[in-house]
Amino acid sequence: MYRFDARMLRLREELTARELDAFVVTHPQNRRYLSGFTGSDGALFVTPDGGKLITDFRYLEQAERQSPGFELVEATPLELPETLGELVRQTGVKRVGFESHDVAVADHSDWTRAVDSELVPVKELVEEMRAIKDRGELEAIKRAVAIGDAAMAHVREFIRPGMTEREVAWELEVYVRTHGAEAAGFDIIVASGPNGAMAHATVSDRAIQAGEPIVIDVGARVDGYHSDLTRTLLLGEPDDRFEEIYDVVLRAQKAALEGIRPGMTGREADALARNVIEEAGYGEYFRHGLGHSVGLEIHENPKASTVSEAVLQPGMTLTVEPGIYVTGWGGVRVEDLVVIAGNGVEVLSRAEKRPSMSLP
Ligand code: ZN
Ligand code: ZN
Repeated sequence: MYRFDARMLRLREELTARELDAFVVTHPQNRRYLSGFTGSDGALFVTPDGGKLITDFRYLEQAERQSPGFELVEATPLELPETLGELVRQTGVKRVGFESHDVAVADHSDWTRAVDSELVPVKELVEEMRAIKDRGELEAIKRAVAIGDAAMAHVREFIRPGMTEREVAWELEVYVRTHGAEAAGFDIIVASGPNGAMAHATVSDRAIQAGEPIVIDVGARVDGYHSDLTRTLLLGEPDDRFEEIYDVVLRAQKAALEGIRPGMTGREADALARNVIEEAGYGEYFRHGLGHSVGLEIHENPKASTVSEAVLQPGMTLTVEPGIYVTGWGGVRVEDLVVIAGNGVEVLSRAEKRPSMSLP
């Protein structure tokens, strides 16, 4: 209860600073962050002295339970424009903010027709608030991380040459769902051999072979909060090429984990790892950013990349996931989840990083 009051208080300060009389929240995770409501349909109508939760009859009971601080207004998604128009007339508000990154153009024209007051586009205001996690949020994330770690330990026990990527991914999916997660954090990636060269590979029916890199990216979701973990494994004896590339990725990750400080930009954090990879001659094979924040969504701001000027602050989460991807050969990525702390980072993931495993 209390945390939603505190968040609404902060939001109202932001609205005052932007001279907004009301704010409509439609983005599902923002709605949840401010009200606790997890239903798939609904909008918040926030004014300086009140909070209304608009949702349809299917969710009324749930809304009452999850969001006792909000006055409920019943309306179907189709009735939303007229309902907003009515609330604006009742409250007499003049400048009404809305989430311009979430409202479709078609919806916006319906709203414009139904609402007499000025509609003011506001981009990612609640997302900015969400960037710094409170203790309860970090606890949920840590539980999700622990499940990811356990899943990765489990995969080491059962993975065998000849299994398909899809079989391994399914085993991981079942594992996270039966060990405390409400869902996997995202579509689990198992990318073996050449498939691993695509940084965002998913899964195929390819049979895993001994001696090739296997990129496994798994996460869990607990109370809406995500974890994100990648390890690269190899069954049997690694060759020189694998050992060299793995060593470069691991050194790059270590440089970032040890070097990231609050006050740095996402670009500076990215450079810590990128410099190591570039100096080893693999710069052109590391084509994505170093990492991203996680929370109610799997990819949140801030990002750590060559173009990110976001300043890292204590309480922000960040993945640290350098990778090298070579077309026709495969990929190596190692990903941990950290929280920016007062003087560096706290690494949350504990899954072991030894890649090679003896054949069963
Ligand atoms: Zn990942
Ligand atoms: Zn990630």
